[in-house]
Amino acid sequence: MQLITEKGREGRGLSLLPPCDVERAEPAQADCRKIPLGMPSVSETEISRHYSALARRTHGVNDGFYPLGSCTMKYNPKIDEEAAALSGFTQIHPLQPAETAQGCMEVLYLAEKYLCEITGMSAMTFQPAAGAHGEFTGLLLIKAWHHSRGDMKRTKIIVPDSAHGTNPASAAMAGLTVVNVPSAPDGSVDLEALREAVGEDTAGLMLTNPNTVGMFDENILEITKIVHEAGGLNYYDGANLNAIMGIARPGDMGFDVVHLNLHKTFATPHGGGGPGSGPVGCSEALAPFLPGARVQKKEDGSYGWTGAEQTIGSVKAFYGNFLVVVRALTYILTLGREGIVEAARNAVLNANYLRTKLADTYPMAYDGLCMHEFVVSLQSWKEKYGVTALDVAKALLDHGIHPPTMYFPLIVHEALMFEPTETESRETLDEAAAALLEIARLAQTDPEALHASPRTTPIGRPDEVTAARHPVVRG
Ligand SMILES: *Cc1c(COP(=O)(O)O)cnc(C)c1O
Repeated sequence: MQLITEKGREGRGLSLLPPCDVERAEPAQADCRKIPLGMPSVSETEISRHYSALARRTHGVNDGFYPLGSCTMKYNPKIDEEAAALSGFTQIHPLQPAETAQGCMEVLYLAEKYLCEITGMSAMTFQPAAGAHGEFTGLLLIKAWHHSRGDMKRTKIIVPDSAHGTNPASAAMAGLTVVNVPSAPDGSVDLEALREAVGEDTAGLMLTNPNTVGMFDENILEITKIVHEAGGLNYYDGANLNAIMGIARPGDMGFDVVHLNLHKTFATPHGGGGPGSGPVGCSEALAPFLPGARVQKKEDGSYGWTGAEQTIGSVKAFYGNFLVVVRALTYILTLGREGIVEAARNAVLNANYLRTKLADTYPMAYDGLCMHEFVVSLQSWKEKYGVTALDVAKALLDHGIHPPTMYFPLIVHEALMFEPTETESRETLDEAAAALLEIARLAQTDPEALHASPRTTPIGRPDEVTAARHPVVRG
């Protein structure tokens, strides 16, 4: 395929507009570009065809089942897009006087209130632009809290080996040293290893529950207690809250800080590179350190800005990605208290439905009921049939299904992680199970057929490392 810049010819473009009848103003030479802009000269038809052709070569949620685990984009109702497009939300300036921005401030106020209720936190900032940015911010809050008490020796953060890769990376960026604790064979935190890891230098623990293998850690109260008793704080990675929202709250599990990914669980589409939002909620004790301006409801019912006294400073300009918050609030208001709970229950039900349909054929990494996702380990297939997780993922493409997350978490060999999400119908799950069972039959009878897949996509099997490191973006 040609690039858009290679298409078209000099002078071609939109010819609907009459020639300009205003005298041309030449900018000063010093302000001019030295290198030509390189804009494509294409007609309207050419440009629409180009982007339609690109869209046909990709697979999105509008094309079929998309069971990517852990980092899944969940439900993005169209009504949330409409709310975020309202001119009252888009035609506004962050430096506008507060009395002219009351509606937008109410959005931030209500979103904070509802998300604090859902997470069991006391206060929240919407500044962080994504999940990892939220982790970084939350860890700075933990650090600031220890420092405010004159406790400077707490420099270590405990991260289980099943954690999302951003956890240790954010901890390092926040200037903390990562201490890894291994998981027990059932995927939960190894309590003995945790007891050994904590001490006077423990700043805190970073955890997600349900964990990254989709299991609810039943020792969670014990885990957060061990850390608190050692003087540390507990950080909850709430990037994928959809299994527990409205049902269980990180605050009640003993967590002091939580980040959410509004661009996963609360309605903003993700995958296209942004914008996202990773708000950070915290307990009363950490609220004085929150970054940025927050909305306060005054006695007369109007809204004003307030800042935390011992703030860690801003982590982003103004109020974060505001329109993502508009979508999240719309989502929460349209679902309501019952709808949020139902979404969570369906996420868990769908994952267990698919897991049960596959469990006799696909080796599950962990036994028992899962939460919103489950992990399969194809190590034994690799040894027996020479069929890998990558082969199964590629074969799914020929069935019109996006592959699940592959080779994550790292503690599971030949991992495939499925997260169907709450919005898929029983028929879609049945079709996916049928496709996966057909692929399993091929793995046992004709593994070569799987090595040759995918056969129906524009690109078959790129060299994944080279494709990532040295992308050639023309086909
Ligand atoms: C996606 C994800 C993150 C990181 O979020 P970004 O918005 O991509 O920075 C962190 N933790 C978990 C568990 C995630 O799934």
